Amino acid sequence: MTAPLDEATSQLSPVQQEVVAQIGAKRETWPEFPAELRYELRGELERGTAEHVALLPATTSIWANKHAIASVHGCEKKFLADREFPGWSVPLARGTVVHKAIELSINWNGLPIPADLVDESIASLEFGEQNISGFLQQLGDADRAQLRSDCVDLVTKFDECWPDLKKQWRPVTESKIRMELFDGKVVLQGKIDLTLGRAEGLKAGKVLVDLKSGKFQPNHMHDLRYYAMIEAVRIGVPPRRIASYYLDQGRFHSEDVTEDMLFSAAQRATDGINRMIELELDSSDPRVAPSPACRWCKALETCEPGQVSLREFDDPLEDLL
Ligand code: SF4
Repeated sequence: MTAPLDEATSQLSPVQQEVVAQIGAKRETWPEFPAELRYELRGELERGTAEHVALLPATTSIWANKHAIASVHGCEKKFLADREFPGWSVPLARGTVVHKAIELSINWNGLPIPADLVDESIASLEFGEQNISGFLQQLGDADRAQLRSDCVDLVTKFDECWPDLKKQWRPVTESKIRMELFDGKVVLQGKIDLTLGRAEGLKAGKVLVDLKSGKFQPNHMHDLRYYAMIEAVRIGVPPRRIASYYLDQGRFHSEDVTEDMLFSAAQRATDGINRMIELELDSSDPRVAPSPACRWCKALETCEPGQVSLREFDDPLEDLL
């Protein structure tokens, strides 16, 4: 993606200029990756999980996303609770509404007003075909007002901190990615908040961005490395850079993608898949690991360690997008 560096940035605020500097790079600086990388990554994943996958009953598949991988590496009891009670919550809906609003802003006719974007976003999701529609339709007035208020706040911050997303930057919000191993016996999937740019030949030019409220946590970069690994297998060239953007602070936390990073992400996914399979076969003794994330855990009501730990965390986990 070269456009950002070609743009006159003098009209941009300092924080917008920082965004341009973080996501842009001249083509001649883009790294090149070997063509066989995608096969090597897939091979690592399949070799590392084959023995465990062979233990699964014929009708059972393993579905993983960044939350499942993070949970199984953290609190296994939370992983099991999320699996048992999947569904939407206001924090999850907030991310989807904000991403939709940003998507609408790219093609908006005239100057986009954050509150208008959020209202349009909620309306299109509520009456669209996505599975969030049922959740939005049954929201009570108070939750709906809170959701709208939170989303307007976040979209306003995005509008303040980011330059206008130009079409030639190829911006895509909520980009779905997926990798199947063993003919679908294991499925790795994800949804990237924002992608910009694209690969050219074997040169990496794409940037993956996760938008966050709250503060940096190490898991945020693990999530993005997982996405980068799936992208590398999917199109044969990884992204050039991954970045978490913290809207409350107007700050990036970014990393350039390397082969070592991708193989490390593949190893972490392998370990996570294997543990998921072990829990699938015997979930009687999950590890319990309290953290600030207990605040949003579906098992909190019945989890004494989680309840005790929450009283000790006086800096609650701020919601993620
Ligand atoms: S409340 Fe905390 S410790 Fe308990 S299962 Fe949930 S995340 Fe784990």
